[in-house]
Amino acid sequence: MNISIIGSGYVGLVTGACFAELGNKVICADNDPRKIAYLKKGIVPIYEPGLEEMVKLNLKNKRLKFSSSISLAVKSSEVIFIAVGTPALENGEADLTGIENVARSIALNMDGYRLIVEKSTVPVETCAWVKKTISTYVRKGHKFDVVSNPEFLREGSAINDFTHPDRIILGVESAKAKQIMTSLYQPLNRPILVTNIKSAELIKHASNAFLATKISFINAISRICDKVGADVKEVAEGMGLDNRIGRHFLHAGIGYGGSCFPKDLEAFINIAEKLGYDFGILKAVRNTNEEQKKFVLQKIKDELWVIKDKTIAVLGLSFKPNTDDLRNAPSIDLIKALVQEGSKVKVYDPKAMGKAKDFLKDVIFCNDLYQAAKSADCLVVVTEWNEFKEMDFTRLKKLLKRPLVIDARNIYDPGLLKEKGFTYIGVGRGNG
Ligand code: NAD
Repeated sequence: MNISIIGSGYVGLVTGACFAELGNKVICADNDPRKIAYLKKGIVPIYEPGLEEMVKLNLKNKRLKFSSSISLAVKSSEVIFIAVGTPALENGEADLTGIENVARSIALNMDGYRLIVEKSTVPVETCAWVKKTISTYVRKGHKFDVVSNPEFLREGSAINDFTHPDRIILGVESAKAKQIMTSLYQPLNRPILVTNIKSAELIKHASNAFLATKISFINAISRICDKVGADVKEVAEGMGLDNRIGRHFLHAGIGYGGSCFPKDLEAFINIAEKLGYDFGILKAVRNTNEEQKKFVLQKIKDELWVIKDKTIAVLGLSFKPNTDDLRNAPSIDLIKALVQEGSKVKVYDPKAMGKAKDFLKDVIFCNDLYQAAKSADCLVVVTEWNEFKEMDFTRLKKLLKRPLVIDARNIYDPGLLKEKGFTYIGVGRGNG
């Protein structure tokens, strides 16, 4: 099929590259000309494992093209995916300016039937607005369908998630749209759930809200564990063995971040409010997450007493491993709070340092974790990168001014670290 993807970020680029890999002819468009210039050369401006190789290969065999012309993208393809950003406005509401702009551009450039697929995460009823907008601006009465096809990929494992999803959600209104979309996804051979459009839109927000709830729930349990001397990892394991609960997303730590959970939760609370429902559960989830970030800062203070002029090594900046994405990363709030209180902060991250340098001021960027640890009063692990799990503790102990490890992701064995002479503080590991 001839497909266009409008918005070539984490989701758009992965979607485009994977559909090209499946044998379709894909144009990825974006209104950021710098991004398109890089992509045309096969340079992927984000870090996502395997993506650059896939983009290069499909550029070479001419299945994938990049363009800054939305008009060209619309004219060249029958199926058009919208994958632009939907960031949060100040009041938490999703900013749908990008979606509206793209809907108008599609309408003005259509020269025949088009299937418009809404892939960005949007509030329920957005597709209805997209449909209305296209109907208003379309010329010569060209026909079209709108589909809601929310995306569930995770940064860091995006290609595998896109090609092996647990389910593909298709919110459709016509038999033609259903037929085109099911044949497009058929080569993946994964479960497809066809629903009405509003249900599909809600499935995305409801899923993300539920996952965030699981994280905040286990974080709340971690607070009790710390008070009574239980280990939240054991509690989570015991809970997770129950199939009704499941093991996933029961990892206590510094809280969730990233470009999706915080904004999607805000947007969902906001939509509910507009619809006259006070989504109290989600407000509590958000509050627990905010408290959790402060809780880690408090743990540092509980050990060091005064943190002014102390050197703190922070390992991990990205909101999770295997990505360079810093949007709403818990590391940023923690680092800003430490700097504000007068600590000297040394940081290291395997992939996110370049992006962090653009906006993180008054910190020392280090070349590796050992350089960060050198002469530090405390080492805080904020992102669970594999290289932090495998660090040389004997070397680390010699470098630190004081052998204190705050494990904000619970990646270490407390017994092992104690044996090696460290003071170990985890989250909900029973140590205050
Ligand atoms: P992103 O910021 O990485 O990419 C968005 C891209 O859209 C950018 O390249 C931007 O330049 C482009 N853009 C914005 N407005 C445009 C316009 N009017 N015309 C053309 N291009 C435009 O965002 P992302 O992380 O890819 O997220 C995109 C959507 O997918 C969001 O709604 C997000 O919530 C959702 N989503 C993201 C993830 C994820 O893990 N990142 C997962 C599932 C769903």
